[in-house]
Amino acid sequence: MVLTRENCEALDGADTLAGFRHRFDLPVGKIYLDGNSLGAPPIAARQRVDRAFAQWRNDLNASWWKHGWLDLPRQLGDKLARIVGANSGEVIVADSTSVNLFKLLLGATQLRHDRRVILTDAGNFPGDLYVAQGIAQAQQRKLRIVPAKELIESIDRDTAVVMLSQVDFRSGQLTELKPVVARAHAMGALVLVDLAHSAGVLPLRLSDDGVDLAVGCGYKFLNGGPGAPAFLYVAKPLLESFANPIWGWIGHRDAFAFESEYRPAPSIASFQVGCPPLLSLIALDAGVDLVLEADLQAVRRKSAALTGAFIDSVSPQCAANRIEIVTPFESHRRGSHVSLRHPQASRLADGLADHGVIAEFRAPDLVRFGFAPLYISFRDLWGATEILKRVLREIEAPRRAHAPAGLVTDIAQRSGP
Ligand SMILES: *Cc1c(COP(=O)(O)O)cnc(C)c1O
Repeated sequence: MVLTRENCEALDGADTLAGFRHRFDLPVGKIYLDGNSLGAPPIAARQRVDRAFAQWRNDLNASWWKHGWLDLPRQLGDKLARIVGANSGEVIVADSTSVNLFKLLLGATQLRHDRRVILTDAGNFPGDLYVAQGIAQAQQRKLRIVPAKELIESIDRDTAVVMLSQVDFRSGQLTELKPVVARAHAMGALVLVDLAHSAGVLPLRLSDDGVDLAVGCGYKFLNGGPGAPAFLYVAKPLLESFANPIWGWIGHRDAFAFESEYRPAPSIASFQVGCPPLLSLIALDAGVDLVLEADLQAVRRKSAALTGAFIDSVSPQCAANRIEIVTPFESHRRGSHVSLRHPQASRLADGLADHGVIAEFRAPDLVRFGFAPLYISFRDLWGATEILKRVLREIEAPRRAHAPAGLVTDIAQRSGP
C-alpha cells in the first residue's frame, strides 16, 4: 500500500477499533509510538482510582474486605487468563515481571532438581537474563545462552527449563511457542515464557500451546500505568506440585490466622507474597477491561496492518539513509513494534521527538516504533512516516554534502525520486 493521507483516512474510517482511541487520555500534538514501553492512560483508570481513593478515605482498613480489594489479584488474574488463553485459576496479578520470573524460574529448577541447565536465547531481555544468572549462581546451575535460532535444537535431557520472550524486545521477532513446547516436553523440560511484548496485543493460547509457566507485564500493551503490577501463569497440571519459593504471608492458606508455620494456599493465590498494591491494581483493572472489550483478532489484524505499512514505507528509504529494518517482514513473525537500526539512532529518536513523534532509542543503535492498535490510528502512522523522512533528511543531508562527489550521485540514484 502507498501511504498517503487519503489512504490512511480511509483506513481509519473502516477501522472497527477506532472508537477505543477516545477511551484514552492522549496528549495533544504528539504521536505516541512507545506504548510497548509504557502504555497510554485509559480515562477510566483515573476515575476508578479516584473512586478507590474515596473508599480508602471513608472506610479505611475495612475497605480490604468491604470493597473486595483482597480478591482483586485473583479476579484480575481471571480476566488476564481470558486474554492469554488460559483457564480461570491459572493466573494471578502480583509483584513485578522480574520478581514473578524469579519465583517461576526458581520453582522450575526446584521441580527439575536433577537437571543442570537453564536454557535461554541471547536476545532475551537483559533483566530476565540477570534473574537467571542470579538463580544459576545460587542454585549451582548452568545458564546456557544460545542464539535464538538454535534454541529448540539446544533443548536436551539436561535442560530443566527453557526460558524465552515470545516477542523479542529489540527486533520485535515473534517466536511460535508450540514447537518449543513440543521439543521441551519430549525432553522432559519445562517452558517459561515472558509475554511482556505480547499480552494485550495478540491472541494468545497458553493452554492450547501447552505452555507450563509464563509471566507478563502490566504497563505495556495492557495500559496499567507506570510500574503496574505484573502477572504470572502456572498451568493447572503443575499447580499441585509447583511451589512459590517465596513464602509470603498473603500466599498463606489462611493469611489472617497468623499461624507461625507457612502453609501455602492450595491455589494460584499462593504465588502472592505481600500486600497487593491496591491503587495500582485498580488502574490496571481499567486497562485490562479495555483489552477484554476489544476483539484481540481485530487488534492483531490492525497491528499487522500498521507495522506492515510502516515497514513498506521505510523500506525504499533504507539504502540512502543508512537504515536497516531489523524486524521480520512477514507479519506472522513479528509482534507490534518495528525496530530500525541507524548509526545515529539516538540522534534520530531525539529528532523525531523534537517533531512530536515519540519512539524509543535502544542502545546502541536501534529506534523502536511501537504501534498500540487501541489508540494509534493510520493517520498517526502517516504523520510519523512523514516526520521520519524529514528527520532522516536533516541527519543525512549534511553528511551527503561532505561526501565525495561519486558517493553523492550514487546515493541520489539509489534513493530514487
Ligand atoms: C518490560 C519487560 C519486563 C519488565 O519487567 P518489570 O520487572 O515488570 O519491570 C520484563 N521482561 C521483558 C521482556 C520486558 O520487555
